[in-house]
Amino acid sequence: MTQKKAVFFDRDGTLIVDKIYLNDPGQIEYLDEVITSLKKIQSHGYDFIVVTNQSGIARGIVDEANLFKIHKIIDDFFKSHQIKVLDYLYAPYLTSSNHYYRKPQSGMLQEGSVLYNIDLSKSWMVGDRMTDVEAGHRAGTKSILLSDLEDPSDFDFNPPDAHVHSLAEVAAAICEP
Ligand SMILES: [Mg+2]
Repeated sequence: MTQKKAVFFDRDGTLIVDKIYLNDPGQIEYLDEVITSLKKIQSHGYDFIVVTNQSGIARGIVDEANLFKIHKIIDDFFKSHQIKVLDYLYAPYLTSSNHYYRKPQSGMLQEGSVLYNIDLSKSWMVGDRMTDVEAGHRAGTKSILLSDLEDPSDFDFNPPDAHVHSLAEVAAAICEP
C-alpha cells in the first residue's frame, strides 16, 4: 500500500489562537486564513494530523474532557468546510518529563505515521515554536516555523526549512516549493 504524505500541525498558535492552557471550548478562536490554507494543502494530496503538547492536563489546569470537546468542535468546523483531519494527538505531560510523546520529542509524529501509514520523509511539521520544528526533524519531516515570536537563530535546534508569518505562507511553502 502506498504510503501517504501528511502535514502535522501544532494546535495552539498555529491553527487557533494560543490562549495558554485553553480549557473552555467557548474560547476557541481560529487563526486567519485557516480554512483556505488547509483546503489548498489538502488539494495537493496531504493528509492532516494535529499534534499538541498539553501539559495543562498534568498541571490540573486543563480538563481532559474539555480537551476532547475542543477537538470535536474544531473537527466539526473543519468538516463543515470539507477539511478532514485524521487525528488529534496530544501529549498530557509536564515539560520536565521530557516524555518521548512531548515535542520536541517525535513520539506523536512517529505514532501518527504508524497509525495512518504516513511517509515522514514526504511530510511536514508546522508549528509556532522551535520545539515543533525540532520534533519534525527528529521524526524525519520537513518543517515550517509559523511565528512572529521565535527566531530560529536563538535556538540550538536546526533551523526550519521555512520561517513564515501566516497560514497562507505555510500553504505556499508546501504547495509551491
Ligand atoms: Mg504552539
